Amino acid sequence: MKTIQFFDTHCHLFMDPLRGDTEGVLHRARAAGVTRLIVPSVEAESWDQVRVLAKKPGIYPALGIHPWSADEELDTQNLENALTASSSVAVGEIGLDYKIEIPDRNTQINVFRQQLDVALELDLPVILHCRGAFEEMLSILSEDSYRGNIRGVVHAFSRGTQLARRFLDLGFFLAFGGAVTRLRAKRARKSAVFVPSDRILLETDAPSIGMEGLAQGEVEPVHVTKVAHEIAELRKTNAFDIAGITWVNACNLFGIDPDD
Ligand SMILES: [Zn+2]
Repeated sequence: MKTIQFFDTHCHLFMDPLRGDTEGVLHRARAAGVTRLIVPSVEAESWDQVRVLAKKPGIYPALGIHPWSADEELDTQNLENALTASSSVAVGEIGLDYKIEIPDRNTQINVFRQQLDVALELDLPVILHCRGAFEEMLSILSEDSYRGNIRGVVHAFSRGTQLARRFLDLGFFLAFGGAVTRLRAKRARKSAVFVPSDRILLETDAPSIGMEGLAQGEVEPVHVTKVAHEIAELRKTNAFDIAGITWVNACNLFGIDPDD
């Protein structure tokens, strides 16, 4: 009989409080069957931390510049070299966040576009962060050079089915995390049912996003099991099924052998 295994496609092990207890965090995760993790970077300074973490089994790196850090000068050649040297599985996390004012929108857009071009160049998927900028992001991703050529995931998706549909139409995956564990997050819960089974991913975004019963900062990769159970209930199936389909989807998107 196969044991249940979960893939947390988005967690920041290099952030406090997780970074002080990496071994404990990984032990608790593995004990619950959470055996694969993707660790996306935020700013160039975290690239090295991510590369060191990715030496551990089951941890896959993604390097990029988060919109919050988009005021850093981005040397795309440097990013390409770092992605290749670390065998990164994605460019991430990247995107647009219009709920913050600094960096300004133009700066964010420029750095986002630069990184989409890096993803095209290296044929890597992207991990997208988007807040308050969905129209702008969809319009960029719909441009001729990107549509059908850029693949990836919208992380921490918590919006409604109409927006979900538009990203799905562009070929994107949607990753669900803590939001779906909250009864009041009606849109997120509807979208978690709406998304086709070959486009859904699980994540925690630990330690950045809380969950029902867990404050921000208390969330660890092990809690992706809670997300899976909640989604299983919403989709009227079981956690084993959700763990299985999201495992295969993550391996497909990020080019990882599912049986390694
Ligand atoms: Zn994140």
